[in-house]
Formats: sequence, structure tokens, C-alpha cells
Amino acid sequence: MRIGIYPGSFDPITNGHMDILKRAAALFDKVILLLAVNPSKKSTFSVEERLKMMKEAVKDMPNVEVDFTSGFTVNYAKKVGSSHIIRGLRAVTDFEYEFQLAAANKFVDSDVDMVFLMAGQTTSFISSSMINELHKNGADISSLVPPSVVEAYSHL
Ligand code: ADP
Repeated sequence: MRIGIYPGSFDPITNGHMDILKRAAALFDKVILLLAVNPSKKSTFSVEERLKMMKEAVKDMPNVEVDFTSGFTVNYAKKVGSSHIIRGLRAVTDFEYEFQLAAANKFVDSDVDMVFLMAGQTTSFISSSMINELHKNGADISSLVPPSVVEAYSHL
């Protein structure tokens, strides 16, 4: 079985992430949407809240599972028998970081390969931090995030 891992902070998950996820789910037998927890990074939502939103967002996607790790994604990938890590690319600004990350992952495990999917035209401007900013300023974010995220913001 060909397994792809889609890791990220998902703070919160957005329709940009969902676009990449749907396309990845068509390429792999199974995709694990992986909350890669970085304890040193300040987050808007807790790990539990983020996982809840992610699980709700993928509930109708039969070949997608949600999990989390506080370790290296490459180590997680090896553990579950995957050698493909999926990432989304938006503007040029994503490229430099992703390029470095790909090299670091190869350094840790040379068997692992990164799969990059180009952001969709209508979702390429969406980022989790942009959603946070829009919400703080009273904008309606319901067309930019899954319903579970709109719900979570209403409890913040
Ligand atoms: P990280 O902190 O690991 O970058 P994010 O949750 O911000 O986690 O992003 C996870 C992945 O999804 C990254 O590869 C990022 O480039 C990609 N991504 C984020 N937003 C979008 C979007 N709107 N369209 C396509 N890819 C995206």
C-alpha cells in the first residue's frame, strides 16, 4: 500500500490545506494528515483542538487518517512504512523553506522523498496566520476554512 504523509501545524486547518489533501488522497492509497507538533512555536489552538478540527474536516474522506507526532516527520513516516512526505507550495516564499526542509529530511533519511503540490488558484493566498488575522479583525472566514474551524473560532 502506498502511504503519503501530509504534515503541518494546521493552526488551524484551512481550505488551502484541504485542497492539497484532496489531491494527495487521489495519488496515494492512504494519506495520513499529520499534526507535527512544535512545542516551541506559539499556537492559537491547542493540539487537542487542532486534532478535533482536522478529524471533523476529513470525516468523509475514506482513505485519510489523522494523527500527531512531536518528533521528526521522517521518523514517523518510516514507522508507518511511508517514504513520501507531501507539502503544498504557494508563492516563491514557500520555496526556500521547503527546499531546506527537503534537504534536512534527506539528511535524516535518504529513502524519504518529498512530493510537492502547487497551491490551487483560489486557495493560494490562504494561510493559518492569515485566517487568524482575518478573524481578529471581524472578517467572515467561513468560505476559507472547513465548518469545524468556524465552530472552533466561535468558542475562542
Ligand atoms: P508548517 O508549519 O509545517 O509549514 P502549515 O500548517 O503552515 O505547517 O502548512 C502545512 C503545509 O501546507 C506546508 O507545506 C504549506 O506550504 C502548505 N500550505 C499551507 N497553506 C496552503 C495553501 N493555501 N495552499 C497550498 N498549500 C498550503
